[in-house]
Amino acid sequence: MDVRAKRNLILLGHAQSGKTTLAESMLFACKTTSRKGSVTDGTTVSDYSFDEIERKSSVNASLMFCDYKGYRIQIIDAPGYADFLGDVIAGLRAVDGAILIVDASAGVEAGTSRAWELLEEQNLPCIIFVNKADKDGVDIKKVLAAIKEQLSKNALLVDRMDSPDLIEAVAESDDALLEKYLDASLSPQEIVEGLHKAVDTRKVFPVFAGSALSDKGVADVLDAVIKYLPSPLERPQVLAHDPLHPEVAKEVRFSQDGSLSAFVFKNISDPYVGQLTLMRVFSGKLTSNTAFVNVNKHIKERIGQILILQGKEQRPVDVATCGDIIAIPKLRETLASDSICAERESVLLDPLIFPEPAISASVKPKSREDEEKISIALHKLSLEDPTFRVSHDPQTKEMIIAGMGDQHLEVMVKRLKKRFNVDVELGKPKISYKETITRKTRVQGKFKRQSGGRGQYGDCWIEIEPIERGKGFEFVDKIFGGAIPRNFIPSVEKGVRQACCEGAVAGYPIVDVRVTLVDGSYHDVDSSDMAFQIAGAMALRKAVQEAGPQLLEPVMEATITIPDDSLGAITGDINSRRGRMIGMDVRAHTHIIKANVPLTEMFAYANDLRSLTGGRGVYIMRFSHYEVMPQKQAQSIMGAYQAAKKHDIEI
Ligand code: GDP
Ligand code: MG
Repeated sequence: MDVRAKRNLILLGHAQSGKTTLAESMLFACKTTSRKGSVTDGTTVSDYSFDEIERKSSVNASLMFCDYKGYRIQIIDAPGYADFLGDVIAGLRAVDGAILIVDASAGVEAGTSRAWELLEEQNLPCIIFVNKADKDGVDIKKVLAAIKEQLSKNALLVDRMDSPDLIEAVAESDDALLEKYLDASLSPQEIVEGLHKAVDTRKVFPVFAGSALSDKGVADVLDAVIKYLPSPLERPQVLAHDPLHPEVAKEVRFSQDGSLSAFVFKNISDPYVGQLTLMRVFSGKLTSNTAFVNVNKHIKERIGQILILQGKEQRPVDVATCGDIIAIPKLRETLASDSICAERESVLLDPLIFPEPAISASVKPKSREDEEKISIALHKLSLEDPTFRVSHDPQTKEMIIAGMGDQHLEVMVKRLKKRFNVDVELGKPKISYKETITRKTRVQGKFKRQSGGRGQYGDCWIEIEPIERGKGFEFVDKIFGGAIPRNFIPSVEKGVRQACCEGAVAGYPIVDVRVTLVDGSYHDVDSSDMAFQIAGAMALRKAVQEAGPQLLEPVMEATITIPDDSLGAITGDINSRRGRMIGMDVRAHTHIIKANVPLTEMFAYANDLRSLTGGRGVYIMRFSHYEVMPQKQAQSIMGAYQAAKKHDIEI
């Protein structure tokens, strides 16, 4: 198929705005499906997994396609809830454009603004569909005004191609067109072509209104997709690097005949075929039963089948070409974020960047024998979802899962039960703090045991000092003259690193420190790997206590859209949450506030915002950075931890 007849798009919008229903309606309109499924009955092509059917709402990005007027449209239906943002971020990297769905009965909501920001970041063109126009009391004009006010003034209703607003916007998007427009008028052909270019360059956002549920306006959207959204060759440039010089950004020319370049955006474990690796082919072609090079891992992998997905259904194809979004079963090492190319040629596409998980909770097996099974299952789930992490709390000996929000963690626990048949109890969610230090210190860690036969002896002196925020951990070896034999230096490092994971003052990982091993002593017989590991860990714990320990807390960037009259109340409230204003934008009757606020202070914010703005305020929030927690708050967390530890020891 000619690449110019391909369209790849993602459906984005607030949860419940009708994305999945629109996908269903598009497939039905293209006669891809003979019956229209419904979200309420759990019969859509897109929401096919058990967790989606049960929740009646999308949790995963799913892939679909339909053929319309000679075009192949590939659709990614993304989840709307912020908790499942990971799949939105991944899906965005596989497409060339988007349909943003706005619920006409709700207007611009938090999830609408979030989706809009992501599209802005990825520089992706977008068509806006105002859905649920069938509902009583809906005022499309008002919704359009809100879209113009809160998203872009260049969002334009495209009901008539001769509308003066539209022609003017198209003319203004291009100098040559503008000149022509001022001199004479534009022909219908020029308007359509001009609009296509204006949409591709994000200068105009065509708006349509209709009802996905009753298939109204859906044909207009399909027409707009093929007329205005870019083909894979017209998409904005993808960022790439030369693998030998990753620091230099490189412009890549993608083409149908060029050499293979593909990007893996997601992997899923399918109950029947096992691993499925989802990738977008940007350039060249990939043929079944051949091999490719994984640029990130420097390996060659063989592929058997190539599949295209229609929801849960998988159809084998012989070849995938420029623009295709495909799934490959049973790859061994290729995972999400990897770049793929043909032998010799290599292009490294920018990795996926996911937000840090901001919330964590313990999981306890309901039955003791399940412990290992759970640990393996959790690991598998984390491979599938990069925003979901698994770790082990050495203090409480519990397994800890971390993710984007409480719903995210709950879905994972349900998956454990359904897919791996293990039951766990989810603890109360906790915030992921970190520990660090404020000054340089030098301490000794000495471990000496003499109990009958062979003893244990490890002794080290370390210096610990703070390093730049975000730098993590550095270990420097400055042992001279064999104070510690060379083979035990890695032991000290291992002990120090281990202790860093366990935390010294509040049980959270220690970050942004440099540890320099400066001196030590050993015993010819009693010294061992283990003894030096313990000495290293002892030294680290002692050093942190003496180096002015501090807690770091996750700080979010909140974007809050509010009516003018609640500005005072909202800024006051942000202050009381230890927040800091970082920007403000004024549009017609709304203020858009950007603020950094510690996550700790943002629990239940949705409720408070609602009551402070009479239900008219919306906000979105994303992880921004870690920052030092004020002593007062930090003291209470450290105090509680120390008390719990003391209690443990006494027992
Ligand atoms: P998503 O979360 O954005 O994927 O939204 P869904 O497609 O799951 O739809 C959410 C709810 O809105 C479901 O109950 C749908 O039946 C309903 N819905 C979707 N589109 C329309 C529409 O055009 N009109 C009306 N009245 N309801 C709709
Ligand atoms: Mg959905």
